[in-house]
Amino acid sequence: MSNYPKVQLHIDGEWRDARSGKTIEVINPATEEVVGTVAHAGIPDLDEALEAAQRGFETWRKTSVFERYRLMRKAADILRSRADAIAAMMTAEQGKPLPEAKMETLAAGDIIEWMAEEGRRAYGRVVPARAEGVYQLVLREPVGPVAAFTPWNFPINQVVRKLSAALATGCSIIVKAPEETPASPAELIRAFVDAGIPKGVINLVYGVPAEISAYLIPHPVIRKITFTGSTPVGKMLAGLAGQHMKRATMELGGHAPAIVFDDADVGKAARTLAASKFRNAGQVCVSPTRFLIQERSFDEFLETFTTAARAIKVGNGMEEGVTMGPLANERRVPTIEALVQDAVGRGAKLQAGGNRIGNKGYFYEPTVLSDLPLDSRAMNEEPFGPLALVNRFSDFDEVVAESNRLPFGLAAYAFTGSATTAQRIAAEVETGMMTINHLGLALPEVPFGGVKDSGYGSEGGSEALEAYLVTKFVTQAGL
Ligand code: NAD
Repeated sequence: MSNYPKVQLHIDGEWRDARSGKTIEVINPATEEVVGTVAHAGIPDLDEALEAAQRGFETWRKTSVFERYRLMRKAADILRSRADAIAAMMTAEQGKPLPEAKMETLAAGDIIEWMAEEGRRAYGRVVPARAEGVYQLVLREPVGPVAAFTPWNFPINQVVRKLSAALATGCSIIVKAPEETPASPAELIRAFVDAGIPKGVINLVYGVPAEISAYLIPHPVIRKITFTGSTPVGKMLAGLAGQHMKRATMELGGHAPAIVFDDADVGKAARTLAASKFRNAGQVCVSPTRFLIQERSFDEFLETFTTAARAIKVGNGMEEGVTMGPLANERRVPTIEALVQDAVGRGAKLQAGGNRIGNKGYFYEPTVLSDLPLDSRAMNEEPFGPLALVNRFSDFDEVVAESNRLPFGLAAYAFTGSATTAQRIAAEVETGMMTINHLGLALPEVPFGGVKDSGYGSEGGSEALEAYLVTKFVTQAGL
C-alpha cells in the first residue's frame, strides 16, 4: 500500500517521532510485506505524555460538558468523512475485508456520538437531609488521567470505546495502541485533534507493551487503567493496578457457548452463527466458539454450518468479494495449527478446513471440528481464530453445566423456540452478555463486558461512563 503513513506518537498536541528516533515495522498480514513503520516510545516520551495528560486533565475537566459534546460530535463527523481512506489503512495492517474495516470506522462515529450525549446526562443527585436547611449533594467527577491499552483485532473500536467514555466524562488519556495495527487508531485520534480537542487531553504512544504498562500503571499521574486483551495479561495488569489502588476496567478473553435447542429454527441458527464465527477470522473476544447442539438437531446444524464455512471466500481483504482475511499476525498461525492438531489427535472429527492456505500471508481455512473431547486444548483455551467447535448435548442441565465449565464468562448465544427456555438459559449461564435468537451484542447504548476470568467493568451503555467517574459527597448547612 503506497499511502500507508509513517505512524507517529501524539504527545501534548504534537505529532512527532520518538525522542530516540526508534521505529518498528508494520507488516501486511495478507502479503507479509512491510507497509510502514510506527514510532516506538521510550521512557522520555512517556514522561512527556504523563505531564501532558496531567495538564490536559486540568483543562478538560473545566471544559463545559456541552463544549466537550460539541467537539466530540465534530470529531465523529471528521472521522466519517475519512472512512474510506482509514478503512484501507486498517485492511493493510490488520487484514480484515475492506467493508468490515469501513463498518468499524463508521461505527466508531456512532460510539463517539452516543458517549458524548450520555456525558451530558452523567447526573449526580440531591439526597433529602435530616435537618432543615441542609443540602446533601452527590457529585460525579472525572477520575483523572487514564492509561488505556488496546489490542490489534479491532484497531479503532477497541480505542474508541475507552477514549470516548474518558473524554465524555472530563478525563484525559494516554492510549497505548497496538504496534501491529497502528495507523487506523492514529487516524481516529487525528479526527479528535483536527476537531479542536485541547492539547494534552489525548496522547498516543506505541512501544513495548510490557514496558509501557509497567511504567504508566504505578505512575501517580495515572488514576485509571483500562485494558482489552488476553486473560493472563489482564490479571497481571489488574494486579499491578491493585497494588497502586488504581481503578481498572478489564475486557479479557472469552470462550462463548452457542447453544442450539431442538425447538429452534436450526437452519437459521447455523447460518447466523457461521456468519458471526468467521467475522474478522474469529479474532473476536465475543466470537461464538463452543457450539453446543441438542442431539436431534446435531446433524442438520453441522451440515448447514459446514456448508456455510466452506462458502467463505478467504483472501486479501482489499479484493472484492473476500469475506475473510488472513490472521492478523504471524504468531496466530502456529497457535491455531497446534489447537487443531491437538483436538484431532484426541479423537475430534475434522469437518471442514484444518489447513494453512498457501505460503504467503497468514491465511488459515475456516475450520469446523466436531465431537471434541472436553480435555482437548481448544475446548479450554480461547482459540481466537477461525475455529468452530461443535459438540452435542442431551438436556438443559447438561448444556448449562458445559456452558459454565470454563472460567470465562464474556458472551453467550442461544437459539430456541420456547420463551420459557429462553428465560431459563439467560438466567442460568454465567456470562456478561447473552444474545438469544439473533446477534445483538456490542451496540454503543448497551453494556459490553464480562464476568469471571473475562474481566470486570463495562465498555458500553451508561455503565461505560460510570467507570471514568468518581463520587464526591458534599453536605452543606446554611450560615
Ligand atoms: P498477548 O496476550 O501477548 O497480547 C494481548 C494484548 O495485550 C496485545 O494487544 C498486547 O499488545 C497486549 N499486551 C501484552 N502484554 C502486555 C503488557 N505486559 N502490558 C500491556 N499490554 C500488553 O496475545 P496476542 O498474541 O497479542 O493475542 C492472543 C490472545 O490475546 C488471544 O488468544 C486472545 O485471548 C487475546 N486477545 C483478546 C482480545 C480481546 O478483544 N479481548 C484482543 C486481542 C487479543
